[in-house]
Amino acid sequence: MNPSQSAKPRLPLACSVRDCGLPLERRERTFGCSHGHSYDVARSGYLNLLQPQDRRTRAAGDAKAAVEARARLLHAGIGRAIVDALVERAAALDLQPDPPVVDLGSGAGDALAAIARRRPIAGIGIDLSTAAVEHASRRFPDLTWVVANADRRLPLMDRSVELVLSFHGRRNPAECARVLAPGGFLLVAVPAPDDLIELRAIVQGHGIERERANRLLAEHASHFTLVERSTTRERRLLERAALLDLLRGTYRGERASSAARVTALTRVEVTLASDFFLFAPRG
Ligand SMILES: [Zn+2]
Repeated sequence: MNPSQSAKPRLPLACSVRDCGLPLERRERTFGCSHGHSYDVARSGYLNLLQPQDRRTRAAGDAKAAVEARARLLHAGIGRAIVDALVERAAALDLQPDPPVVDLGSGAGDALAAIARRRPIAGIGIDLSTAAVEHASRRFPDLTWVVANADRRLPLMDRSVELVLSFHGRRNPAECARVLAPGGFLLVAVPAPDDLIELRAIVQGHGIERERANRLLAEHASHFTLVERSTTRERRLLERAALLDLLRGTYRGERASSAARVTALTRVEVTLASDFFLFAPRG
């Protein structure tokens, strides 16, 4: 967030203190609500709206190593076709001028920044990982980056957002519906059944297709109607360093033993695939 922010469209941020939810106004180096709750803007420009009840017991969000691994992969073009597909869909949507666009699980910020290059938006990236949010705010200071738990209550005003993005992250469908303006959209990407199937075969000894679509559709059915569904897939011949980054960037737990199996490899052809779902809130 830079000083020119004041000239930009108003951000629909809401106070995250429990039972408050009043609009947050930008002051010099803080954001505050009219009840006197105040949040410092970090030196690198992001805003931490995580409340004690929303923290996890362990280090909240992705470890720095996972964030950096994903950034290296994207920099090398690995997974780029999938991010491009998300950006393409978002940029083509019929939205109000300067729409508030919120990316849940915004990571290092590449997708939101790419959309902002395609059309003027009031972009807000939300991630539980302070490391990710700090990384994004240093790279893309013209957008707004917030540490918050997207699984819980979103720090956003009711019916204020034109587009909510969720790229391989977690989301609360009722909260997504609450913050979306009439005519807005929720765009969700989840790993397709064959995403990283070769890598999973190596790590787990068997590569089972993981079906996520039916559960996703069921979870959103009471708040949303499905507008469009599609899949983007890329296949890459990857060297050991990239395979290890895929492990660091995607799998949780068992990483040490997984890494040992991958370290024994030289190169493997890997499928990266995502299913996209465009939802509209039910009236
Ligand atoms: Zn407040």
